[in-house]
Amino acid sequence: MIRTRFAPSPTGPLHLGHAYSAILAHDFAKARGGEFLVRIEDLDQSRSRSEWEMKIFDDLNWLGLTWVTPIMHQSQRASSYEIAINKLSENGLLYPCKCSRKDVRDAVTAPQTEFKIIEGPDGLIYPGTCKYQKYSNENVAENALRLDMNKASSRCITINNQNIKMNGSRENKNIIKTSQFIENIGDIVLSRKSMEVAYHLAVVVDDEAQGVSHVVRGLDLKPATNIHVLLQNLLGYSSPYYLHHKLIKDGTGKRLAKRDDAKSISKFREQGAKPADIRAMVGL
Ligand SMILES: [Zn+2]
Repeated sequence: MIRTRFAPSPTGPLHLGHAYSAILAHDFAKARGGEFLVRIEDLDQSRSRSEWEMKIFDDLNWLGLTWVTPIMHQSQRASSYEIAINKLSENGLLYPCKCSRKDVRDAVTAPQTEFKIIEGPDGLIYPGTCKYQKYSNENVAENALRLDMNKASSRCITINNQNIKMNGSRENKNIIKTSQFIENIGDIVLSRKSMEVAYHLAVVVDDEAQGVSHVVRGLDLKPATNIHVLLQNLLGYSSPYYLHHKLIKDGTGKRLAKRDDAKSISKFREQGAKPADIRAMVGL
């Protein structure tokens, strides 16, 4: 069964870029007799609003998309994330870290440091400050947990990124040696203080739980796909196929952001646009 998903955050209006992604994922599944799912990525409860969520469903409905219910909300999935964290932890792949973002920046930019300043898909590569510290167990929940990339990449030497093109055919060159992740991804955070899960882990656990077979999403997330496929391997999940689509830009060539209200679907609706006009605007 082919199953795709659209996973917006309810922190602002849907714009043309979201519509493009949602329509592609929807049509990909429907053209192949599959299912389209919607998942609400509301991990950031300080910014998520139920009003935005209702507007998202209203826009998707107006665009003519249909999806399978019930809708999954990341805010209600803490116990599933905890199971995954515990599994990685039991396998010795995580270690606690007390560093703030500033601590990490200070450590890699300090004079006479041997660390290189490398920006990975998840921010600055962690210099390993806490890696060999012995923190007592009772502190674990108060700290972030990082993936030990040395151990992770020795547990799965290669990963298979199953990338596909818009027509559904496979891209070449999918097998990736994970040893390179030590330097260009590093020890990423998988859970923050008080077990708040990181996006990378949540998305992998959710795609597995929802049986997503094809992840259709923007090219901006292509660098993160290596992390996701690695985590799927470490957790014993099978990996979905990945289709990374072009990003919709504004008139000046800049990628659309949440704050670009001028390109929001509701604005176009107010101005009398039809769903077919939206499709035409994004080249569908
Ligand atoms: Zn640390």
